[in-house]
Amino acid sequence: MALELIGNHSLVESALRGSRRDLSRLLSLIEKGEDVVIPDRKYEAESMVVGITGPPGVGKSTLVGRIISYWKNEGKKVAVLAIDPSSPRTGGALLGDRIRMDSANSGEHVFVRSLSTRGSPGGISASLSSMVKLLASCGWEKIIIETVGSGQSETRIVAFADKIILVDGPDRGDIVQAEKAGIIELADLVVVNKSDLPGALTVAENIRSAFSFSNEDDAPDVLLVSAEKNDGIHEMMRIIKHSNSPMWRSRIKIRERLLSLWGHRLLSSPLLTQVIEDVETGSISLEDGLEILSG
Ligand code: GDP
Repeated sequence: MALELIGNHSLVESALRGSRRDLSRLLSLIEKGEDVVIPDRKYEAESMVVGITGPPGVGKSTLVGRIISYWKNEGKKVAVLAIDPSSPRTGGALLGDRIRMDSANSGEHVFVRSLSTRGSPGGISASLSSMVKLLASCGWEKIIIETVGSGQSETRIVAFADKIILVDGPDRGDIVQAEKAGIIELADLVVVNKSDLPGALTVAENIRSAFSFSNEDDAPDVLLVSAEKNDGIHEMMRIIKHSNSPMWRSRIKIRERLLSLWGHRLLSSPLLTQVIEDVETGSISLEDGLEILSG
């Protein structure tokens, strides 16, 4: 259901003029599935969206804190969308809260927003493009989408970013799993964090040799960094700034975005329960069900 045009419109105007409160309100509306009309603005073309994913505990939030500082030093405004499947009730701080703690003194140049994947059938992929557009229109030049790589759909959300960083750590080696799941093809850069700990170098070497790209130029760079010691961050940012996604990778990103939106559309259909029942009883075929849901 669309908000009253006047209310929505004035919220957008206010957010575009710099109100963080109204920006937050609009993001909540978009998260709930409201249609928010965002005018095209020049900032949008200039913004850069970086996606960061990896398993829990590898140091993503710490890394995001470093990236925020790096861009802040360049005088940029940085917004973070931290997508988190965990619930405060199950213990563990939400990603967004941890980033907020890391960047407690970030002030007006940093905006951090947590988004939960709970309660949203099919995830938040449908709202992500609008959120990014809104942030960019409001003058947030650098936008980070951070997701926990705990499930394929969460990981694939990073496909909505222009540049993608996959993070691993010395005690993990999950990247090889990511390769199996086809997620590695999305990465513009693989970062092995915690280079200050033993084992990081070996993990980086294992990842490099595990890549089975037919052409070596196609494989992403594998970089060792230590977010905690602030080591390797400049090199990481240089690579991210100058890397150009080859056309095949851009196409894979678009394919993943389509898959995300397609999944969202099917799972959020009000007809889903009925279609499942009808397929179960045999009154319609799977193909019929798909037709009904995608119609
Ligand atoms: P996330 O779950 O991937 O967001 O990981 P966090 O950023 O919360 O970090 C998990 C733990 O790893 C924390 O205790 C961090 O202090 C620690 N950590 C993060 N980066 C490094 C690093 O470069 N070296 C070491 N030794 N520990 C780190």
